[in-house]
Amino acid sequence: MRKVYLDNNATTPCDPRVIDAMLPYFFEHFGNAASRSHPFGWEAEDAVDKARAQVADLIGADEKEIIFTSGATESDNLAIKGVFEMYSRKGNHIITLKTEHKAVLDTCKVLEKKGAQVTYLDVKEDGLIDLVALENAIQKNTILVSVMWANNETGVIQPMKEIGEICAKHGVLFMSDGTQAVGKIPVNPREYGIHLMAFTAHKMYGPKGVGALYVSRKEPRVKVTAQMDGGGHERGMRSGTLNVPGIVGFGKAAALAKAEMQEDALRLSKLRDKLEAGFKNALEEVYVNGNTEHRMPHVTNISFKHVEGEGLMMTFNQDIALSSGSACTSASLEPSYVLVALGLGDDLAHSSLRFSLGRFTSEEDIDFTLQSIIKGVNHMRDLSPIWEMYKEGVDLDSVVWSAH
Ligand SMILES: *Cc1c(COP(=O)(O)O)cnc(C)c1O
Repeated sequence: MRKVYLDNNATTPCDPRVIDAMLPYFFEHFGNAASRSHPFGWEAEDAVDKARAQVADLIGADEKEIIFTSGATESDNLAIKGVFEMYSRKGNHIITLKTEHKAVLDTCKVLEKKGAQVTYLDVKEDGLIDLVALENAIQKNTILVSVMWANNETGVIQPMKEIGEICAKHGVLFMSDGTQAVGKIPVNPREYGIHLMAFTAHKMYGPKGVGALYVSRKEPRVKVTAQMDGGGHERGMRSGTLNVPGIVGFGKAAALAKAEMQEDALRLSKLRDKLEAGFKNALEEVYVNGNTEHRMPHVTNISFKHVEGEGLMMTFNQDIALSSGSACTSASLEPSYVLVALGLGDDLAHSSLRFSLGRFTSEEDIDFTLQSIIKGVNHMRDLSPIWEMYKEGVDLDSVVWSAH
């Protein structure tokens, strides 16, 4: 039985070459990178130095600008809370987007309780930031703009250069959650006027539990207040014994990404396009969500109108792993806040599926997915009174549904 994994935006498998690089650092070279007095420590430190150079090289940064963390969630926290505390004398206003990852949004929410003023900007219908609204939102007390490079649900890529220029013009720090972009498309924070950038290994074929925060060291030299104290590791910005095997794996993953991203992106964009075309040719009322020009090569978010996504997934989810546009909260199934921010109604948001392809996705995977999901959609629509009404020409938007 084929098992197809199309949820690479949630996590990627570890590339076997990454695992090979990591293995010696669990037993043979198990030293603490902070042990300065013996060869066990020196070996570990050398391995971390090499990995730091590989990670820095992937994003065109200086090695000293890379702070290793436990992942992008921690990096987002360190960047936003760290700037808020470090620059409190300059101001307390932060600007971000409604479509950011929870690691950014929840961090901002917490800071609001500690005196921060946060503006959550709407996005346009295609998921892109409104640059005029951004510039208008900047105030005298604005210290930080936080905009993700690429969205995890839609793959939409924000105009980072233009945002960087606006931030530079107003002397505001620019932070980006680069998690979904780093290792997949060329990302260079310095070129784009980004001062802090969070990313993580497990979204780019590295291990889970290791990430990084890029912190600009020149023009300007940015500082963040540590959120973890105890020993002053990572230039005092993040204490704690370094996860040496994880960092070695992150470094290897970065080197592989640098060498292979162009080829991967080209191959995956063709498969992604095949998937979209296959659905559109076989089915009516299929909509791709978000801007289709400025987006990641391996992602598509598709609504199958009048089909409930969670139900649709049940028709194939033993065989195909992907995410729907609904999020399970404790009480109910909520439509994705990202899709709602794009202006999708609850019905279209609930009828969406996110397909995120990856390095190990094959053409056979895509063929199998098309076949299974087309069958599933047809099956669901055949059973649906709403679909029957649609086919009979009833204008469903004008129907007033009574709630009993
Ligand atoms: C996955 C993800 C995160 C969280 O990363 P972890 O390393 O799992 O903490 C943050 N931001 C975005 C955009 C993500 O996709």
